[in-house]
Amino acid sequence: MKKIVLTSLFLSLAVFIFSLLSPLLRPPESVFPPPPDGEELPYAGKLTGTDDAGITVRALIGGETETMNMHDYLVGVLAAEMPASFETEALRAQAAAARTYTLYKMLYGPSDNHPEADVCDDISCCKAYASDDDMHNNWGEDYEKYRAKMENAVASTDGVCITYSGQPALAVFHSFSPGMTESSENTWGGYLPYLRSVFSPETENDVPEYFSGLTVPISDFESAVEAVHPEAVFSEGASPFSDDAVYSESGRLMSVTAGGVSLSGTEIRSLFGLRSAAFTMEFTGDAVVFTCRGSGHGVGMSQYGANVYAKEGWDYREILLHYYEGAELKTIGEMNLR
Ligand SMILES: [Zn+2]
Repeated sequence: MKKIVLTSLFLSLAVFIFSLLSPLLRPPESVFPPPPDGEELPYAGKLTGTDDAGITVRALIGGETETMNMHDYLVGVLAAEMPASFETEALRAQAAAARTYTLYKMLYGPSDNHPEADVCDDISCCKAYASDDDMHNNWGEDYEKYRAKMENAVASTDGVCITYSGQPALAVFHSFSPGMTESSENTWGGYLPYLRSVFSPETENDVPEYFSGLTVPISDFESAVEAVHPEAVFSEGASPFSDDAVYSESGRLMSVTAGGVSLSGTEIRSLFGLRSAAFTMEFTGDAVVFTCRGSGHGVGMSQYGANVYAKEGWDYREILLHYYEGAELKTIGEMNLR
Protein backbone atom coordinates (compact mmCIF):
# COMPACT_ATOMS: atom_id res chain seq x y z
CA MET A 1 0.00 0.00 0.00
CA LYS A 2 1.28 3.39 -0.92
CA LYS A 3 1.52 5.79 1.98
CA ILE A 4 2.13 9.46 1.55
CA VAL A 5 3.42 11.69 4.28
CA LEU A 6 2.15 15.19 3.69
CA THR A 7 4.35 18.19 4.15
CA SER A 8 3.61 21.72 5.31
CA LEU A 9 1.68 22.20 2.07
CA PHE A 10 -0.91 19.93 3.58
CA LEU A 11 -3.34 22.54 4.88
CA SER A 12 -3.58 24.56 1.73
CA LEU A 13 -3.94 21.33 -0.22
CA ALA A 14 -6.72 20.13 2.07
CA VAL A 15 -8.59 23.42 1.71
CA PHE A 16 -8.11 23.25 -2.07
CA ILE A 17 -9.44 19.69 -2.21
CA PHE A 18 -12.37 20.62 0.01
CA SER A 19 -13.26 23.49 -2.31
CA LEU A 20 -13.13 21.08 -5.26
CA LEU A 21 -15.32 18.49 -3.59
CA SER A 22 -17.81 20.80 -1.92
CA PRO A 23 -20.30 20.83 -4.82
CA LEU A 24 -20.49 17.04 -4.51
CA LEU A 25 -21.53 17.42 -0.92
CA ARG A 26 -24.49 19.64 -1.65
CA PRO A 27 -27.59 17.73 -0.56
CA PRO A 28 -30.31 17.00 -3.10
CA GLU A 29 -33.18 18.99 -1.60
CA SER A 30 -35.99 16.75 -2.69
CA VAL A 31 -36.88 14.27 -5.41
CA PHE A 32 -37.43 17.19 -7.77
CA PRO A 33 -35.95 20.45 -6.49
CA PRO A 34 -37.81 23.74 -6.85
CA PRO A 35 -36.49 26.35 -9.30
CA PRO A 36 -33.63 28.37 -7.79
CA ASP A 37 -35.01 31.45 -5.96
CA GLY A 38 -38.41 31.02 -7.55
CA GLU A 39 -37.03 31.63 -11.05
CA GLU A 40 -38.52 29.83 -13.99
CA LEU A 41 -36.69 26.64 -14.83
CA PRO A 42 -34.36 27.33 -17.76
CA TYR A 43 -35.82 24.69 -20.05
CA ALA A 44 -39.45 24.81 -18.92
CA GLY A 45 -41.49 23.82 -21.95
CA LYS A 46 -38.45 24.14 -24.23
CA LEU A 47 -37.15 20.58 -24.28
CA THR A 48 -39.03 19.38 -27.30
CA GLY A 49 -36.45 16.95 -28.74
CA THR A 50 -37.31 13.28 -28.40
CA ASP A 51 -33.88 11.79 -29.09
CA ASP A 52 -30.24 12.66 -28.44
CA ALA A 53 -29.82 14.47 -31.75
CA GLY A 54 -32.76 16.73 -30.91
CA ILE A 55 -31.44 17.92 -27.53
CA THR A 56 -28.90 20.73 -27.48
CA VAL A 57 -26.50 20.83 -24.53
CA ARG A 58 -24.47 23.86 -23.44
CA ALA A 59 -21.27 22.45 -21.99
CA LEU A 60 -18.49 24.42 -20.30
CA ILE A 61 -15.37 22.68 -21.59
CA GLY A 62 -11.89 23.95 -20.84
CA GLY A 63 -13.43 27.23 -19.67
CA GLU A 64 -15.37 27.81 -22.93
CA THR A 65 -19.08 27.19 -23.39
CA GLU A 66 -19.65 24.87 -26.33
CA THR A 67 -23.01 23.95 -27.82
CA MET A 68 -23.51 20.44 -29.15
CA ASN A 69 -26.20 17.81 -29.38
CA MET A 70 -26.70 15.28 -26.61
CA HIS A 71 -25.23 12.42 -28.66
CA ASP A 72 -21.90 14.16 -29.26
CA TYR A 73 -21.74 15.37 -25.66
CA LEU A 74 -22.34 11.86 -24.29
CA VAL A 75 -19.67 10.30 -26.51
CA GLY A 76 -17.16 12.73 -24.96
CA VAL A 77 -18.43 12.01 -21.44
CA LEU A 78 -18.27 8.27 -21.95
CA ALA A 79 -14.72 8.49 -23.33
CA ALA A 80 -13.62 10.38 -20.22
CA GLU A 81 -15.69 8.62 -17.56
CA MET A 82 -15.23 4.93 -18.36
CA PRO A 83 -12.28 2.91 -19.67
CA ALA A 84 -12.81 2.02 -23.34
CA SER A 85 -11.88 -1.57 -22.48
CA PHE A 86 -15.07 -1.93 -20.40
CA GLU A 87 -17.89 -4.21 -21.52
CA THR A 88 -20.44 -2.86 -23.99
CA GLU A 89 -23.36 -3.23 -21.54
CA ALA A 90 -21.46 -1.29 -18.87
CA LEU A 91 -20.77 1.48 -21.40
CA ARG A 92 -24.46 1.52 -22.36
CA ALA A 93 -25.46 1.80 -18.69
CA GLN A 94 -22.97 4.64 -18.31
CA ALA A 95 -24.37 6.42 -21.39
CA ALA A 96 -27.92 6.25 -19.99
CA ALA A 97 -26.78 7.47 -16.56
CA ALA A 98 -24.82 10.39 -18.04
CA ARG A 99 -27.74 11.30 -20.35
CA THR A 100 -30.14 11.27 -17.39
CA TYR A 101 -27.82 13.31 -15.21
CA THR A 102 -27.43 15.90 -17.99
CA LEU A 103 -31.20 16.19 -18.51
CA TYR A 104 -31.68 16.51 -14.75
CA LYS A 105 -29.21 19.42 -14.70
CA MET A 106 -30.94 21.04 -17.67
CA LEU A 107 -34.41 20.70 -16.16
CA TYR A 108 -33.68 21.61 -12.56
CA GLY A 109 -31.16 24.34 -13.11
CA PRO A 110 -27.41 24.32 -13.74
CA SER A 111 -24.82 24.64 -11.00
CA ASP A 112 -24.25 28.04 -9.43
CA ASN A 113 -20.68 27.54 -10.68
CA HIS A 114 -21.75 28.00 -14.31
CA PRO A 115 -25.18 29.58 -14.82
CA GLU A 116 -24.32 30.05 -18.51
CA ALA A 117 -23.86 26.32 -19.16
CA ASP A 118 -25.94 23.22 -18.39
CA VAL A 119 -22.94 21.09 -17.49
CA CYS A 120 -19.17 21.44 -17.15
CA ASP A 121 -16.14 19.19 -17.45
CA ASP A 122 -15.06 19.50 -13.81
CA ILE A 123 -15.66 16.11 -12.18
CA SER A 124 -16.15 17.70 -8.76
CA CYS A 125 -19.12 19.59 -10.25
CA CYS A 126 -20.48 17.68 -13.27
CA LYS A 127 -18.90 15.02 -15.49
CA ALA A 128 -15.55 14.61 -17.18
CA TYR A 129 -15.46 15.19 -20.95
CA ALA A 130 -12.91 14.11 -23.56
CA SER A 131 -12.60 16.03 -26.81
CA ASP A 132 -11.76 14.27 -30.06
CA ASP A 133 -8.11 15.33 -29.59
CA ASP A 134 -8.15 13.85 -26.07
CA MET A 135 -9.47 10.59 -27.50
CA HIS A 136 -6.67 10.50 -30.12
CA ASN A 137 -4.10 11.15 -27.38
CA ASN A 138 -5.56 8.59 -24.98
CA TRP A 139 -6.26 5.79 -27.43
CA GLY A 140 -3.54 6.20 -30.07
CA GLU A 141 -3.87 3.53 -32.73
CA ASP A 142 -7.01 2.17 -31.06
CA TYR A 143 -8.81 5.47 -31.69
CA GLU A 144 -11.10 4.20 -34.49
CA LYS A 145 -12.07 1.05 -32.60
CA TYR A 146 -12.75 2.77 -29.28
CA ARG A 147 -14.47 5.79 -30.81
CA ALA A 148 -16.85 3.41 -32.59
CA LYS A 149 -17.45 1.53 -29.33
CA MET A 150 -18.40 4.77 -27.53
CA GLU A 151 -20.57 5.98 -30.43
CA ASN A 152 -22.37 2.64 -30.39
CA ALA A 153 -22.98 2.68 -26.63
CA VAL A 154 -24.62 6.11 -26.93
CA ALA A 155 -26.55 5.42 -30.17
CA SER A 156 -27.84 2.01 -29.05
CA THR A 157 -29.38 3.60 -25.93
CA ASP A 158 -30.60 6.70 -27.78
CA GLY A 159 -32.80 8.77 -25.49
CA VAL A 160 -32.97 6.14 -22.72
CA CYS A 161 -33.11 7.69 -19.24
CA ILE A 162 -33.48 6.52 -15.66
CA THR A 163 -36.72 8.03 -14.40
CA TYR A 164 -38.69 8.39 -11.21
CA SER A 165 -42.31 9.57 -11.28
CA GLY A 166 -41.86 10.07 -15.01
CA GLN A 167 -38.99 12.58 -14.62
CA PRO A 168 -35.23 12.19 -15.07
CA ALA A 169 -33.62 10.89 -11.87
CA LEU A 170 -30.52 12.34 -10.26
CA ALA A 171 -28.49 9.53 -11.86
CA VAL A 172 -25.22 9.94 -9.99
CA PHE A 173 -22.50 7.32 -10.32
CA HIS A 174 -19.09 6.59 -8.87
CA SER A 175 -15.97 4.58 -9.59
CA PHE A 176 -16.33 1.60 -7.26
CA SER A 177 -17.81 0.53 -3.95
CA PRO A 178 -16.51 -1.69 -1.15
CA GLY A 179 -19.24 -4.33 -1.46
CA MET A 180 -22.26 -2.03 -1.21
CA THR A 181 -23.23 1.34 -2.59
CA GLU A 182 -24.42 4.07 -0.20
CA SER A 183 -27.87 5.57 0.35
CA SER A 184 -28.09 9.22 -0.63
CA GLU A 185 -29.01 10.50 2.84
CA ASN A 186 -25.84 8.99 4.32
CA THR A 187 -23.69 11.03 1.93
CA TRP A 188 -25.63 14.22 1.24
CA GLY A 189 -28.25 14.21 3.95
CA GLY A 190 -31.04 14.12 1.34
CA TYR A 191 -33.25 11.05 0.88
CA LEU A 192 -33.89 10.00 -2.71
CA PRO A 193 -36.02 6.86 -3.10
CA TYR A 194 -34.02 5.49 -6.04
CA LEU A 195 -30.58 6.06 -4.47
CA ARG A 196 -30.54 3.19 -1.96
CA SER A 197 -27.61 1.14 -0.68
CA VAL A 198 -27.40 -2.03 -2.80
CA PHE A 199 -24.91 -4.86 -3.28
CA SER A 200 -22.08 -4.16 -5.71
CA PRO A 201 -19.99 -7.13 -6.90
CA GLU A 202 -16.53 -5.67 -7.60
CA THR A 203 -13.61 -6.91 -5.53
CA GLU A 204 -9.87 -6.24 -5.45
CA ASN A 205 -9.62 -8.68 -8.38
CA ASP A 206 -11.69 -6.34 -10.56
CA VAL A 207 -10.39 -2.93 -9.53
CA PRO A 208 -6.82 -1.60 -9.70
CA GLU A 209 -5.84 0.07 -6.41
CA TYR A 210 -8.86 -1.25 -4.54
CA PHE A 211 -7.22 -0.13 -1.31
CA SER A 212 -5.69 3.29 -0.80
CA GLY A 213 -3.96 4.74 2.20
CA LEU A 214 -2.86 8.04 3.63
CA THR A 215 -0.68 8.87 6.62
CA VAL A 216 -1.25 12.31 8.11
CA PRO A 217 1.09 13.68 10.81
CA ILE A 218 -0.92 14.39 13.94
CA SER A 219 -0.24 18.15 13.85
CA ASP A 220 -1.57 18.31 10.27
CA PHE A 221 -4.61 16.27 11.22
CA GLU A 222 -5.41 18.61 14.11
CA SER A 223 -4.77 21.77 12.07
CA ALA A 224 -7.05 20.56 9.31
CA VAL A 225 -9.90 19.88 11.75
CA GLU A 226 -9.33 23.19 13.56
CA ALA A 227 -9.41 25.08 10.24
CA VAL A 228 -13.07 24.12 9.76
CA HIS A 229 -13.97 23.62 13.45
CA PRO A 230 -12.13 26.28 15.50
CA GLU A 231 -13.88 24.98 18.63
CA ALA A 232 -12.00 21.65 18.42
CA VAL A 233 -9.66 20.98 21.36
CA PHE A 234 -6.96 18.33 21.22
CA SER A 235 -4.94 16.87 24.11
CA GLU A 236 -1.23 16.49 23.55
CA GLY A 237 -0.06 12.92 23.20
CA ALA A 238 -3.60 11.52 23.03
CA SER A 239 -5.38 10.14 19.98
CA PRO A 240 -6.96 13.09 18.14
CA PHE A 241 -10.15 11.09 17.60
CA SER A 242 -12.34 9.01 19.91
CA ASP A 243 -13.15 5.34 19.52
CA ASP A 244 -16.83 6.13 18.87
CA ALA A 245 -16.78 5.73 15.08
CA VAL A 246 -20.19 4.79 13.64
CA TYR A 247 -20.33 3.08 10.24
CA SER A 248 -23.24 2.73 7.84
CA GLU A 249 -24.37 -0.70 6.69
CA SER A 250 -22.26 -0.21 3.54
CA GLY A 251 -19.08 0.26 5.58
CA ARG A 252 -18.72 4.02 5.19
CA LEU A 253 -17.94 6.17 8.21
CA MET A 254 -21.01 8.09 9.39
CA SER A 255 -19.50 9.92 12.36
CA VAL A 256 -16.57 10.07 14.72
CA THR A 257 -15.57 12.56 17.41
CA ALA A 258 -12.30 14.43 16.90
CA GLY A 259 -11.17 17.16 19.29
CA GLY A 260 -14.63 17.02 20.89
CA VAL A 261 -16.34 17.75 17.56
CA SER A 262 -18.51 15.25 15.71
CA LEU A 263 -17.32 14.86 12.12
CA SER A 264 -19.03 12.92 9.34
CA GLY A 265 -17.10 10.49 7.16
CA THR A 266 -17.91 12.62 4.12
CA GLU A 267 -16.43 15.67 5.84
CA ILE A 268 -13.25 13.82 6.78
CA ARG A 269 -13.04 12.42 3.26
CA SER A 270 -13.15 15.96 1.85
CA LEU A 271 -10.79 17.35 4.43
CA PHE A 272 -8.05 14.85 3.66
CA GLY A 273 -8.81 14.10 0.02
CA LEU A 274 -9.60 10.44 0.71
CA ARG A 275 -10.93 8.40 -2.20
CA SER A 276 -14.07 7.33 -0.34
CA ALA A 277 -15.78 7.52 3.03
CA ALA A 278 -15.21 3.77 3.53
CA PHE A 279 -12.08 4.11 5.62
CA THR A 280 -10.62 3.18 8.97
CA MET A 281 -8.46 5.48 11.10
CA GLU A 282 -5.59 4.36 13.23
CA PHE A 283 -3.55 6.52 15.62
CA THR A 284 0.12 5.52 15.65
CA GLY A 285 1.34 7.96 18.30
CA ASP A 286 2.48 10.67 15.91
CA ALA A 287 0.23 10.22 12.90
CA VAL A 288 -3.23 9.16 11.75
CA VAL A 289 -3.24 6.34 9.22
CA PHE A 290 -6.27 6.10 6.93
CA THR A 291 -6.99 2.86 5.10
CA CYS A 292 -9.60 3.32 2.43
CA ARG A 293 -11.65 1.04 0.17
CA GLY A 294 -13.81 2.23 -2.69
CA SER A 295 -13.58 5.38 -4.77
CA GLY A 296 -16.11 8.17 -5.12
CA HIS A 297 -19.19 9.17 -3.13
CA GLY A 298 -20.57 5.63 -3.39
CA VAL A 299 -24.09 6.68 -4.43
CA GLY A 300 -25.90 5.34 -7.51
CA MET A 301 -24.21 3.15 -10.09
CA SER A 302 -20.74 1.76 -9.43
CA GLN A 303 -18.82 1.84 -12.72
CA TYR A 304 -16.62 -1.15 -11.89
CA GLY A 305 -19.65 -2.96 -10.48
CA ALA A 306 -21.50 -2.34 -13.75
CA ASN A 307 -18.58 -3.87 -15.62
CA VAL A 308 -18.59 -6.98 -13.42
CA TYR A 309 -22.31 -7.44 -13.98
CA ALA A 310 -21.83 -6.93 -17.73
CA LYS A 311 -19.19 -9.69 -17.72
CA GLU A 312 -21.73 -11.91 -15.95
CA GLY A 313 -24.15 -11.35 -18.81
CA TRP A 314 -26.43 -8.64 -17.42
CA ASP A 315 -27.71 -6.14 -19.97
CA TYR A 316 -27.57 -2.41 -19.32
CA ARG A 317 -31.22 -2.23 -18.29
CA GLU A 318 -30.70 -4.83 -15.57
CA ILE A 319 -27.57 -3.02 -14.38
CA LEU A 320 -29.37 0.35 -14.17
CA LEU A 321 -32.47 -1.03 -12.42
CA HIS A 322 -30.21 -2.73 -9.87
CA TYR A 323 -28.25 0.41 -9.00
CA TYR A 324 -31.24 2.80 -9.28
CA GLU A 325 -33.66 0.62 -7.37
CA GLY A 326 -37.31 1.51 -7.90
CA ALA A 327 -36.58 3.68 -10.94
CA GLU A 328 -38.01 3.07 -14.42
CA LEU A 329 -36.31 3.32 -17.80
CA LYS A 330 -38.01 5.57 -20.35
CA THR A 331 -36.93 7.35 -23.49
CA ILE A 332 -36.96 11.13 -23.70
CA GLY A 333 -40.00 10.88 -25.95
CA GLU A 334 -41.89 8.83 -23.34
CA MET A 335 -41.34 11.35 -20.57
CA ASN A 336 -43.55 14.31 -19.91
CA LEU A 337 -40.73 16.72 -19.15
CA ARG A 338 -41.88 19.54 -16.95
ZN1 LIG B 1 -20.62 21.71 -13.45
